[in-house]
Amino acid sequence: MHEIDFPSDVQATLTIDLGRIINNYQNCIKLAGDTKCAAMVKADAYGMGIAQVAPALFHQAGCKIFFVANLVEAIKLRQYVPEAVIYVLNGAFSEHLDYFVRYNIRPVLNDLKQIELWAKFENSDRPQCAVHFDTGINRLGLSPKETTFFIGNTDLRRQLDISLIMSHLACSDDPNNPMNKQQRDDFRAITHHFPNVTASLANSGGILLGSDYHFDLARPGLLMFGGDPRIAPRLSPIAGNIRPAYHISGKILQIRRLEGGQSVGYGATWTAKSPRQIATVNIGYADGYLQMFNNCGLAYIHNTMVPIVGRVSMDMIAVDVTDIDPNKISTGCDVELLGEHITLEMASEVSNLSQYEILTGVKERYQRIYK
Ligand SMILES: *Cc1c(COP(=O)(O)O)cnc(C)c1O
Repeated sequence: MHEIDFPSDVQATLTIDLGRIINNYQNCIKLAGDTKCAAMVKADAYGMGIAQVAPALFHQAGCKIFFVANLVEAIKLRQYVPEAVIYVLNGAFSEHLDYFVRYNIRPVLNDLKQIELWAKFENSDRPQCAVHFDTGINRLGLSPKETTFFIGNTDLRRQLDISLIMSHLACSDDPNNPMNKQQRDDFRAITHHFPNVTASLANSGGILLGSDYHFDLARPGLLMFGGDPRIAPRLSPIAGNIRPAYHISGKILQIRRLEGGQSVGYGATWTAKSPRQIATVNIGYADGYLQMFNNCGLAYIHNTMVPIVGRVSMDMIAVDVTDIDPNKISTGCDVELLGEHITLEMASEVSNLSQYEILTGVKERYQRIYK
């Protein structure tokens, strides 16, 4: 048997800059006025690879607290950061209690039923827990009624070993939304009943809302990867030095000349009005570059921003490269679809996909390179 030998430079590439993720994390701490930061690494670290991202944050950035959405993500994460504190946002259910002990994972308890379940869970190695109070997003967490009941029930509270209380902002991407202040004030009132417990409210958007949103521990996700969570129009760049940690690049497979009146791609949704040079590039929706980019996506080739034309195919897109000096490009040229020049904010604005969806949508087919 011969060893399998794959050619290089065939697949499109997703380059993830771990150094930038580390820098961005450290900048999150600065932006949060030296408040401690946990790292949000749900959904495979926003698609960037939890196996690489989490150890880099733990060993090189000093991040010791991680959040994931579910218990399976947490158990996977435990293999990569044996010493870290890991919280599971989705809560604790009776069938799974032993896993929290076995892998030393802390549940975020989201209702009174879960609180009672955890309180009655007798195990000498039972980890500490977090309690989530809903202050308006109406997704997870104790309702205001349950919150009042729980605060007043010292018996129940004494049976728990609470390491963290938290809430989550619904509109932190919009500094002008009055809901931010309401949620902050409601959460602050709750924290007064837990004077010695770490309190956490801010995600990335919350960090940027200012110091009265920071409490004891922030939970950034998007900012660590280099996104800017604020809704457009962004009045000013983020004060801290947050840089894109992602870079998606494809290659030109073929370049052709179209005469006016000729169309491109499935459905012939784009027609050249004049003679154009069109490059076919090896990235499509099977890579996670979705049809939301039909006729509106942007690519960056040879120092020039150029438009995606026609529909995104499974394996290909077409780019209008007429504006680029034909002597400067040929098959094999690199095409940036996301990164330094085509930022997440730009890709999000043209496609109407959220930055979160674009990042977590990246598929396995890319050749992954970690820097
Ligand atoms: C996803 C998530 C975060 C991180 O949000 P970003 O906007 O990516 O910073 C923080 N807290 C909770 C509860 C979350 O679900």
